[in-house]
Amino acid sequence: MDIKSKLPKSETTIFSVMTALAAEHQAINLGQGFPDYDCNEDLKKLINKYLVEGRNQYCPMPGLLALRESIAEKIYKSYEVDINPKDEITVTAGATQALFTAISAFIHSGDEVIIFEPAYDSYYPSILLAGGIPKPNRLYAPDFKIDWNELKDMITDKTKMIIINSPHNPTGTSLEEQDLLNLQEIVKDKNIIVLSDEVYEHLIYDENQHQSVLKFPQLFQQCIAVYSFGKTFHSTGWKIGYAVGPDHLMKEFRNVHQWNVFSVNSFIQYALADYLKNSENYEYLPNFFQSKRDLLLSELENSPLKSTPASGTYFQVFDYSKISDLPDFEFAKYLTTEIGVAAIPISPFYSIEIKEQNIRLCFAKKESTLLNATKNLRKLRK
Ligand code: PMP
Ligand code: GLN
Repeated sequence: MDIKSKLPKSETTIFSVMTALAAEHQAINLGQGFPDYDCNEDLKKLINKYLVEGRNQYCPMPGLLALRESIAEKIYKSYEVDINPKDEITVTAGATQALFTAISAFIHSGDEVIIFEPAYDSYYPSILLAGGIPKPNRLYAPDFKIDWNELKDMITDKTKMIIINSPHNPTGTSLEEQDLLNLQEIVKDKNIIVLSDEVYEHLIYDENQHQSVLKFPQLFQQCIAVYSFGKTFHSTGWKIGYAVGPDHLMKEFRNVHQWNVFSVNSFIQYALADYLKNSENYEYLPNFFQSKRDLLLSELENSPLKSTPASGTYFQVFDYSKISDLPDFEFAKYLTTEIGVAAIPISPFYSIEIKEQNIRLCFAKKESTLLNATKNLRKLRK
């Protein structure tokens, strides 16, 4: 059969590649971003309860109303903004689906979408599948800051969307209030949607506050923000998340969502509706992850791996240029096969070739895993 690929240049995601290599070589997997510890027992009990109780049929298309109400309550507690659970929140099968649905809903053939590279790897192919044209703006190590004047100059009458991600995967950086104000000013009165990937909203360190687009009323009118319970509740395998946006955008988002997913698994929605009511279930996260980040950094303090502490996410970038001349993918493979620690190279997050020598390590791991991994990494010599 003659099949014409819609993504002829697409390769297997780097996360699958490195996890498979880690398994093959029994390396400690600090590559793909997932915890090596289990999620909360109370949450598992709630899920079990609703499964056994028979909450096993379709939920409403936008998500269980009780869950959307709990999400709205959580948003109020986190950001002091009122979001209407009926019209402004949709439960999705993870953040990847929410991103894909938002791009499919708003991007027409030939529309330009600005992304900041390094960018999470699903953005680029999702834009292509919608017929859009990705327009990457490059961020530079070590601070990976957005140059807002440069962004302004990139905007054309074809620009229909800007995708931001804070806290940022893979760099571990996060946007500040002034960044969001700059963005608000730039898109004001323009026919541009901001797609804001906030899956790491609660993973923010050193007393910083997450700057959600939801906190900027004028900007919010042009935004879809996406979230992932997989990240927040240590359960990446469940693939459940949600999108938030003003009703005029959410209406169109749902128009695509209903033909793509229709509705998300029911019993987990019932469980999350209850579990979210207690804000302690997510308020502990900054301290919980900051101590893991600090352990990783302190164990590698005297190693030749150099870093700027991540201000958010559960990823830490390390510059290995003092150790090796290898390109980052080769170095990540070397780490996995010879040093016994799997890492993620940064180059797959760019659409262009890059020369920087950085790798990303995931610290959503047990203390013992981080200690074993860093013991191996300390064998690296200049
Ligand atoms: N966006 C970013 C920045 C991510 O790191 C991830 C990885 N989890 C996702 C989206 C996808 O989230 P989910 O697993 O809920 O689809
Ligand atoms: N978000 C995860 C990471 O950055 C991976 C998700 C995936 O494997 N698709 O590591």
